[in-house]
Amino acid sequence: SSKEEGGQQARFFKKRMEESFTEKMLLDHGLHEALQDNQFELYYQPKINSSTGKISGMEALIRWNHPKFGTISPATFIPLAEDLGLIVDIDRWCINQACKQLKFWQDKGYAKVPVAVNLSAKNFHQTDLIKTLTDILEKTGLEPQYLNLEITESIFIREIDHVIEKIKQIHRLGISISIDDFGIGYSSLNHLLNLPIQEIKLDQFFVRDINQNKRKEAIVKTIVLMAHELNLNVVAEGVETIEELDTLRQFQCNEFQGYFFSKPLTADKLIHYIKQHS
Ligand code: C2E
Ligand code: MG
Ligand code: MG
Ligand code: MG
Repeated sequence: SSKEEGGQQARFFKKRMEESFTEKMLLDHGLHEALQDNQFELYYQPKINSSTGKISGMEALIRWNHPKFGTISPATFIPLAEDLGLIVDIDRWCINQACKQLKFWQDKGYAKVPVAVNLSAKNFHQTDLIKTLTDILEKTGLEPQYLNLEITESIFIREIDHVIEKIKQIHRLGISISIDDFGIGYSSLNHLLNLPIQEIKLDQFFVRDINQNKRKEAIVKTIVLMAHELNLNVVAEGVETIEELDTLRQFQCNEFQGYFFSKPLTADKLIHYIKQHS
């Protein structure tokens, strides 16, 4: 009967909820441990300059080397860390680690390119963010122009004036800012009007199979033109094929990032890549 079915459904959902609750508890506990036990690792994905073909920067991407589950992708645990408020500590760890690593490479005389770190909206809105950034730069000795922060349009959930002021403060430290996943979030072109940002990173949604989609082509071509009029650097994310690359190059994207060039690499492998491609 339908009553029975309803009861079954309720039990099913209860079970599912319990399971996901347990999973959450486990991961929660694990996430706390992960920071203490050094289970996080930064991978680095090269950014390639479209005119020279050389490496022009890199993006630091976090991985969780879980003692039981193996490597866990940030797509899985970053949203959870955001819910739990742990993202602030994790992001700080990332910024510090990336600055320390780059400074170490620079001291060894490897290519002088900046490192980009993703900053979650929650962290962007922390009142002590500027102090944290200042402290990290001072402690690691990295010059601010070598640090780039990637923010997404989700920061605009707060009042725009507040956001603009914060971005200006970051800018004054000498750190550059990119808008990540551009075009799929709360995109509003007025943000580009008022913000001291230097770069937009075109979301891979617009890159994927662009060469086969006239409408995507039209949008991307126009975004790049507009960005250049505003003196913004344009990075295309998630470039996988030569066809995508050719189209994006034709539209004069400034930089490329994606599996076509390289997957995100461990620190050791990135240095190997730099040595081969400088
Ligand atoms: P994102 O910042 O947009 O990073 C780009 C994502 O695309 C990365 O996934 C990268 O590995 C992937 N990718 C790069 N090239 C290609 C390609 O050619 N094809 C495809 N299919 N994918 C490509 P990843 O490393 O899994 O990171 C996912 C997201 O997690 C990131 O998106 C970022 O939003 C977040 N994230 C990663 N590391 C951090 C971090 O340290 N802090 C914070 N707050 N978020 C992070
Ligand atoms: Mg990013
Ligand atoms: Mg992105
Ligand atoms: Mg993303």
